[in-house]
Amino acid sequence: MGEDLERLKQRLPLLEYLQRHHWTGRPVGTGSEFVGLCPLHEETHPSFYVNPHKNLFYCHGCGRGGDLIRFLELSLHLSFRSSVAYLREQLTPSAQLLEHTAAFYQLQLSRHPEAVHYLLQRGLRDPAVIEELGIGFAPGGKLRAHLSDLGYSLELLLQTGLIGPQGSDAFCRRVIFPCRQNHRILNLYGRSIGTAFPHRLLPRSKGGLFAWESVRHCSHVILVEGLFDLAVLWQEGFRNTTCAIGTHLTPLQWDQLRDSQNRRVDIVFDQDDNQAGQQAALALAHRLHLAGLTARIVRLPAGQDPNSFFLAGARRADFIRCLEEVESP
Ligand SMILES: [Zn+2]
Repeated sequence: MGEDLERLKQRLPLLEYLQRHHWTGRPVGTGSEFVGLCPLHEETHPSFYVNPHKNLFYCHGCGRGGDLIRFLELSLHLSFRSSVAYLREQLTPSAQLLEHTAAFYQLQLSRHPEAVHYLLQRGLRDPAVIEELGIGFAPGGKLRAHLSDLGYSLELLLQTGLIGPQGSDAFCRRVIFPCRQNHRILNLYGRSIGTAFPHRLLPRSKGGLFAWESVRHCSHVILVEGLFDLAVLWQEGFRNTTCAIGTHLTPLQWDQLRDSQNRRVDIVFDQDDNQAGQQAALALAHRLHLAGLTARIVRLPAGQDPNSFFLAGARRADFIRCLEEVESP
């Protein structure tokens, strides 16, 4: 077990893990160590040291240190056993593949003005939110070669659905949102910037509620249908917004939403002409009531969703007014 664990930690070095999760450190001393802000506690002066040779960290701020397993225990609130299982999962080919793919797409975004233009058109302009959500772009045509260079077999690419039967990038000309659960990508959501069918997910679970780790502690949660709704609301400062990607909640998403009885859920689904969004919101609110939660339905002007509402010129205060005028079914 000990030797096995050592090998496991070498396969995903601590520094690489941290960098993948957007930790930045600068070299100190002779360059044998890196220092940056501690991911485990709030601080403004860097006191988190990483020694890549020893594969260890130590924080002078909160006094905690150890190896990657210890870091996973502390940052994800997992037991030792679950941390090891999590690490093993991270190293499975399909988990690694999705990480590499999302990183590739993210890099492409700034290189393709048509994608940035599309985001602007959808009202998404804050680089910090775009970065935080890990939004990328699939230009088409380059992914397969990139992933083959990294050693992935065509068979695996076909199996995960990243590459279509014709050998091309299945997400071609789509803006991409990685769907993470506990910092691990479970799926990719693609929104076409052209005339192709607008939505695409890989043929696997869509995972839990979007960005649930950052929203779950809120006593008041806003639930929306689409990721652009979420992105625009985050941009406007409504960071307690989560998304089910559609109006249908999976069993996991349902369990997440009701894991605290003190939670109030404001449902802001699309105001569809055919009433589909409104009916789904009503059904969900009833279900949440029966489960003992406070659920309210937020009405936007006819035909609008949160994204189009802001695009039509609404301000933060206008949305707050909608939240205040909610109806309890
Ligand atoms: Zn610390």
